[in-house]
Amino acid sequence: MQITEHLKAACKQLENTGDSPRLDAEVLLSHCLNKNRTWLATWPEKELTQVQSLAFNSLLKRRQSGEPVAYITGSREFWSLNLHVTKDTLIPRPETELMVEIILEQYPETANIKLLDLGTGSGAIALALASERPNWKITATDKSIAALTIAKKNAQQLNLNNIEFIHSNWFEAFNEQLTGHPLFDIIASNPPYIPQLDPHLSRGDVRFEPVSALASGEDGLDDIHLICQQALKYLKPEAMLIIEHGFDQKAKLHSIFTHSTYKNICQHTDLARLPRLTSGLKP
Ligand code: GLN
Repeated sequence: MQITEHLKAACKQLENTGDSPRLDAEVLLSHCLNKNRTWLATWPEKELTQVQSLAFNSLLKRRQSGEPVAYITGSREFWSLNLHVTKDTLIPRPETELMVEIILEQYPETANIKLLDLGTGSGAIALALASERPNWKITATDKSIAALTIAKKNAQQLNLNNIEFIHSNWFEAFNEQLTGHPLFDIIASNPPYIPQLDPHLSRGDVRFEPVSALASGEDGLDDIHLICQQALKYLKPEAMLIIEHGFDQKAKLHSIFTHSTYKNICQHTDLARLPRLTSGLKP
């Protein structure tokens, strides 16, 4: 069977799985053949060997059972970096690129910045910023050793050497070991923020992701409260805290930032015009 026919059949097979069956089929077939999607479009009449066709079918079965494409292929693109991801890391989302964009907009290349990415997961935010600002000193933490191992591997593969990785549950390791650790100019975080009983957690691709990276207490805001309060101890005066949150948490974030005494509070919307990020400066 030719590539076009395989893709057509795969689309049919995935029609009830996720909302991008065609794209998923193309990504899985590209992965199988070790080619990119442009190659598939250029050679629609190529026949798959029996081995290739069996391999493709087994990937389609995994996708059909709900497993996210990024976990099947082991990678996801973020800020045009190809990141290795596993079930120990959240799959980087396009909306998180907004955080990278805003930080880059506000802090020029020439600034000498010390930035902390709290709960780095696969390393997405830290790595994107490290690639754009090689002179910045970046620290990335995670409470999951497995996630930190992936983040370090990504840094190595991308040849990004300006990131220090620290195993820490939020600021815990800073309290214990790093007295005298210089303060930060920016603390950025994409923490878990989904309410723990939200039905969204047991649906679709999200089911396969680490719940510790997604859910945080009854209203989803436990970790955000903690980060806002504790970050004050590790920020220089006038330094920025920036946090990603749910589209429906804008007012709550504003109030948490206000109560924690941050000033110049800004809230930013993503490409879908959903409020996604809140930032503020330490007084
Ligand atoms: N945006 C993700 C989702 O809704 C959640 C990511 C997070 O909790 N940091 O699936």
